[in-house]
Amino acid sequence: MHEFSICQSLVDAALEEFRRIEPTPERITRVRVVAGRLHQLVPEFLQSAYEVLTKDTPAEGSEMELRLVPVTGRCTACGWEGEIEPPVFQCAGCGAFAIELCGGKELYLDQMEIEER
Ligand SMILES: [Zn+2]
Repeated sequence: MHEFSICQSLVDAALEEFRRIEPTPERITRVRVVAGRLHQLVPEFLQSAYEVLTKDTPAEGSEMELRLVPVTGRCTACGWEGEIEPPVFQCAGCGAFAIELCGGKELYLDQMEIEER
């Protein structure tokens, strides 16, 4: 279950950002995470990892919104661009297995909302 380690770095990033804000806010109320589908995250696992990892931190009880980004690619043979369905990296235009990945690898903390003291 790699959701846990992924979630740990996201929570770390959120808390680091939180500590940088002056004056120190009351707490984190909401975070938005952007994740490419290539990471094959199970949203429920990520959610429960988030609850466990934010316990006893300023982010405890906050809401986590997960935005999944589809896997997209470009065919180097015919120039087709579009969404692909891993694990089959095949061009829907010409059928070639010559796909260059464009999207779906993203993984970052996109937004964070805080409650001021
Ligand atoms: Zn093609």
